[in-house]
Parts: sequence; C-alpha cells; structure tokens
Amino acid sequence: LLLCSLMAVSEAMYVKYKDPKQPMGARIKDLMKRMTLAEKIGQMTQIERMVAAPDVMKNYFIGSVLSGGGSVPAPKASAATWVNAVNEIQKGSLSTRLGIPMIYGIDAVHGHNNVYNATIFPHNVGLGVTRDPALIKKIGEATALEVRATGIPYVFAPCIAVCRDPRWGRCYESYSEDHTIVQKMTQIIPGLQGEIPANARKGVPFVDGKDKVAACAKHYVGDGGTTRGINENNTVISLEGLMSIHMPAYYDSIIKGVATVMVSYSSWNGQKMHANQALVTGYLKNKLKFKGFVISDWEGIDRITSPPHANYSYSVQAGVSAGIDMIMVPNNFMEFINILTDQVNKKIIPMSRIDDAVRRILRVKFTMGLFENPLADLSFANQLGSQEHRELAKEAVRKSLVLLKNGKSASKPLIPLPKKALKILVAGSHADNLGYQCGGWTITWQGQGGNDITSGTTILGAIKNTVHPSTQVVYNENPDANFVTSNKFSYAVVVVGEPPYAETNGDSTNLTISEPGPSTIENVCGAVRCVVVIVSGRPVVIEPYVSKIDALVAAWLPGTEGQGVADVLFGDYGFTGKLARTWFKSVDQLPMNVGDDHYDPLFPFGFGLTTKGVKKD
Ligand code: BGC
Repeated sequence: LLLCSLMAVSEAMYVKYKDPKQPMGARIKDLMKRMTLAEKIGQMTQIERMVAAPDVMKNYFIGSVLSGGGSVPAPKASAATWVNAVNEIQKGSLSTRLGIPMIYGIDAVHGHNNVYNATIFPHNVGLGVTRDPALIKKIGEATALEVRATGIPYVFAPCIAVCRDPRWGRCYESYSEDHTIVQKMTQIIPGLQGEIPANARKGVPFVDGKDKVAACAKHYVGDGGTTRGINENNTVISLEGLMSIHMPAYYDSIIKGVATVMVSYSSWNGQKMHANQALVTGYLKNKLKFKGFVISDWEGIDRITSPPHANYSYSVQAGVSAGIDMIMVPNNFMEFINILTDQVNKKIIPMSRIDDAVRRILRVKFTMGLFENPLADLSFANQLGSQEHRELAKEAVRKSLVLLKNGKSASKPLIPLPKKALKILVAGSHADNLGYQCGGWTITWQGQGGNDITSGTTILGAIKNTVHPSTQVVYNENPDANFVTSNKFSYAVVVVGEPPYAETNGDSTNLTISEPGPSTIENVCGAVRCVVVIVSGRPVVIEPYVSKIDALVAAWLPGTEGQGVADVLFGDYGFTGKLARTWFKSVDQLPMNVGDDHYDPLFPFGFGLTTKGVKKD
C-alpha cells in the first residue's frame, strides 16, 4: 500500500511539459492543457524592459520582453550588468504557477548594437555588396555569441527588406534593391540560429539554444516598396510584383528555420499589413507552412488605425485575427490584455486563434531549450567585442567597399594610395567620427556622432595606423582652399556623407551629403589629388562633384572597424565590391532600379572597379 501511494504521489508530481525527454508536441499539449486564458494571453504579450518589473512579469504572465532602440539597463552596461538585468526579469516569470520562461528580444541589426564595446558590423547596405553568404553566416554566428554574452536569446534581425527607393530612411537596413541578393544574405539566419537539420520539416523553427539566438525576418512584407520611400507608408504593387520582389527572401528564411517573422507597419495597396489576414495567416502560415511565431512591430497594432490608437478595440481584434501571435505592446500592455480577454470571453476572437498563437510561442521556447536553461550566466561574456569578431568585421568592411572611380584617366590611378609620402591631408566631417561611421541603430535608436560612442577605430585612426611611420598625416575637418594650397600635400583623403538616422527620421527627399561636405570636397579636390570616401546609408547626390574628384569610394556605414577602409585604400587588400544598389544621378530619377525602363544611372547596379591587394581574405 505504501509503495502504491508513493508511486501515486510521484506520478502526481510528474509534470510532462517539464520533461525534456518527452517529444516537443507532447510537452506543448500538456502545458497548454494546464493554462488559463490569462496565462495564454500573457504569453502573447511583449513589453518593454523598463516596465518589466519581476512583479509585472508574474502578475500578468508576460511572455516576452524587449529592449527597444537604446533601452539599456545602464549606460555603458557591461555583459554582467545585462545578464543580471535579464535574469531578474526572468525570475519574475519563473515564479509563476507554471514557470513558463519569458523570451527577451533586442534589435541586434549590425552586431549587438545596443551594447557598449560590442563589435559593430557594417549595416546591411554594405553587406549586400559582398554577395558573400559564407561571410554573412559568420557575422550571424559572431552576433549570436555577443548577444548571448548579455544573456539575451532573441534578435529582431535580419531585415530582409528589398529597398526599392533610397529616399527611405531604412534603406541601409536592406541588403539590396535586388531580391536575389537579399535571398542570398538570409544565410545570416543559420549563422544566428544554427544550421537546420537536413531532415527538418519545412516551416518548423530551428534554434540551437546553446550559443545561438532566435532570429526574426522583418518586416513582412513589402516594407521596402513604399511610395517615394516614405517609411511605414503604402506599397502599391500587383500581387505578382509583391510575390516576385518582396516575398522571395521569406521563402529562404522559412527553409532555413527562421523562428519568427515581424509584420511591417506598411500597407499593401492600402491595407495595413498588421490587419492583413490573407497574407499573414493565409499565405505565411497556411501556404508557406511557417510554424514559428509572428510578432507585431512596436505599437504596430495601434497603427492599424489612423491616427494610431484611435480605436484600440478594433486594432486588437484586427491584429490578432490577422494572425499576429506576439503583440509588441511596449507600454500600454494592460489595456491590450483587458481588451483581448474581453474579446475572447465574448467569442469575438475564437479560442482556437489564441491557442494557435500560444502553441507557436511555446514551440520556439521549447525548441531553443529555454525551459531547461532559462537563466543566463557569464560563460559568453568574453565574446563581446572580441578580437576575433573585430577581425571578421574588418574583412566585412573591406569586402563592402565599392571603388567608383580611380584616377582622372585610367592610366593615372590614385588607389592604392602610397603609404610613404611626405605629407597627406585627411579631411571631412566623417573622417574622425566613430558614431557617423556606425550610423543609426548604434547605442541609441537614432545613433549619434562622436568618438566616445563605443570602442573602435575611425577612418582617420586607421589611416594613421597604416601609413609609413615617416608619413606626416595632417587632419583638418573642414580646410579652406588656402590651407590646402599653402601646404604641400602629396594627396588627400576626404571623408564625407550622411549623419546618423533611423526609421522615419531618415526619410529624405534630397539625398545630399551633409554640410559642409560639398565645400570640403571643392576646397580640397580643387587643390590636390584626392580620394573622396562617402559614408552613407544609401547612394547620395554626388554627380556634380565627380569630375573634380580623382578617386571615389562608397564605404556605406562600415561600423566600428574603420581599419577595413584603410586596408583597401592603401592596397593591403584589393577592392572587390560591386554595387548592390543603383547609384542615381539626381533624385528626380527615383525610383530607379536595375531592369527599369529608362535606366540611366551614374553608376549602374553591379558596378565596381577592382584593385589588386598584397594580402587576401
Ligand atoms: C522597428 C522594428 C524594431 C522594433 C523594436 C520598430 O520601430 O520598426 O524594426 O524591431 O521597433 O525595436
């Protein structure tokens, strides 16, 4: 009798969903059977870390937390500070009745960009130039390790937008105007998540939980196709156009086991993507068999109405009915939870829709081993900004540069620049500015200028490291013509471009280089042989100056490793990059993409001069 009752007790204590030996489907089923409506809706709720006190996590059964751009536990927070902050929140979740771990997500869009001292890789606009899937996979691996170093298991990356108009403020988050390049670059997903087993069922998310992170293909779908490149606006295109330009990279992402997909703020032919049931449920989930979870964008359901939040009940209903599983409600989560609960109780939203959402969220959490290892430790802390990752970033910078002009005549090339020269001039607003080099989504959402933003090497610093010790390097941010002529410079490097920006703040109608860039070019290039290096998130208006410039280089937004720029300018490595975007002559030509009628670019898609380097990557 004693034996029997002991057995009964241990059986009663046995909790199937907690048993890693059970098949995942059985664990999900067992857990869902035990969950109340409040616990289920909590799983669907993602809140901002600033409101995610352990008690909030516990009382509302919150399923996920995010750091929005620039939301950090402390300025210059170390890996240990991050790990502690994430674990504190997690302990709130683990203290609930069922102990379901939350999943913490962050925008790591060019390395772990919110974190001081992390390796900042070139933004996607530069990576597309490399057309190198093996390289981008390694960048994914390095990013995953640096993100894990801070205790975080989930990134809102990659952005697989196909930017069709450089006036868009997010063009630099896009690998190319050409979807086949974007498709190739989805190789970052196995880098971030791990390589999906060959026998995996199509659409099932795959994340190796040990040293990898869940990825997020965004923004579904057509974000890069809005009229005049206006952020969050309307993409007017036929179904055939949508499917052939903006959709293909989602096929690749799903085959590679991407864990999550983020919905776009934009509309397609007038309908908000956040309310588009046909494309989110009908196409992504049913047709493409995507089995991970669909996440909204930041207050994305609020923006279903205009003005945002005008009819929040309608927004909640439309968004959840469309098929969004996890709702990013950074601050007003209580209102969301109340409304959704009420709609389910009133059967406006069927329980089956809630169950579908929760099943998908739990699937990702189980797949990546979050139930077994919910708390992070410091075992990856030394990965943050490691020398190995910085070397990889340098390689990426070298391969992302495009040489657009080399010498006023082909017989008189300026590049490679001689390392040994009497005196050289380095000028321009972007020559000694690490923040400008990194662009938006760096430490803060919008990015910021200056060299104390994080650790790295500016282009000026890199030039000084590279030239012969006897070469005198004179730096003058904005020299006048007199200064240039009265000094006897061997040659000059002028680095100009755009200031940092993110999202709507980067939308532009003129695409000019920032002041005083044009006069710096005039003053310097009128007086001495010069190479102009453009640091920008997209092609900019350069046509009026090209004839005055001896050599021209597109450096995009190279990130912390400015050394990669000097490596190629001075011939240690060769130029290999080919434009992954069309370089227009003037903004009134836009939009203009390769294959368009009346294609009349300054430098066509695919263009790029080459030089020989002493070394090879
Ligand atoms: C952006 C997303 C980002 C999210 C979370 C939004 O404003 O559109 O790309 O993942 O914020 O930070």
